Amino acid sequence: MADQLDILKRLQAIDGQLFQLRRQQEEKPLELEHINAGVAAQEERVKAAGERLRALQLSQKEKEMDLQTKEGNVKKLQGQLFQLKTNREYAAMQREIESLKTDNSLLEEEILRTLDAVDEAVKNRQVEQDRLAQAQARLQKERQRIEQELTAVAEHVAQLERDRKTLLPDVQRQTLETYERILAIREGLALVPVVNDACGGCDRRLPPQVINEVYLKARLVTCETCSRILYFDEAHSKL
Ligand SMILES: [Zn+2]
Repeated sequence: MADQLDILKRLQAIDGQLFQLRRQQEEKPLELEHINAGVAAQEERVKAAGERLRALQLSQKEKEMDLQTKEGNVKKLQGQLFQLKTNREYAAMQREIESLKTDNSLLEEEILRTLDAVDEAVKNRQVEQDRLAQAQARLQKERQRIEQELTAVAEHVAQLERDRKTLLPDVQRQTLETYERILAIREGLALVPVVNDACGGCDRRLPPQVINEVYLKARLVTCETCSRILYFDEAHSKL
């Protein structure tokens, strides 16, 4: 069993790296998705800023047309002023004209305020558009970086898988099956040293007879708590 444990140790060194690399293969695309979502959210903000601007421009146009109509009304009444026969009629119409003029100057002020709001909305849309351009540039850069990293990871994985294959013929079938089963359920760590009389995987204290068996290397010994295969390592033991 001693030679089997030596091969398993080499296998575990490879599989530990493979586990980390495969995790990166899963996680890196998620980073990109996250940035993608940020860009999409910024696109929405640009759209909303554009809609706000268009609504204000429309309101401005409506008010200007309204003012034009009302100024026309004033002119019409002013034209009629001189056709009136009595002073009373004349005074009444003048009051009406004054009242309409007051309404119009209020409307003019409103139009000026709307114009300010339009200016503000134009600036705001520009700010959001600039932010979108920045977010898109960042996405582009990050996509490149992540693609490069994933390529490097894939190459490393391929290399480790080749290394792994060269070791497999030397492992007994049943030992390999046990090892791989534990590897799958224990996050890429199936083989651990005994560390100060405890399991190097889950830190549980091991009974003396278990430690003895590990030391003897007569058979494959596993931790009762986490099922990992145990091996004896002088660097980690008091024995
Ligand atoms: Zn354990």
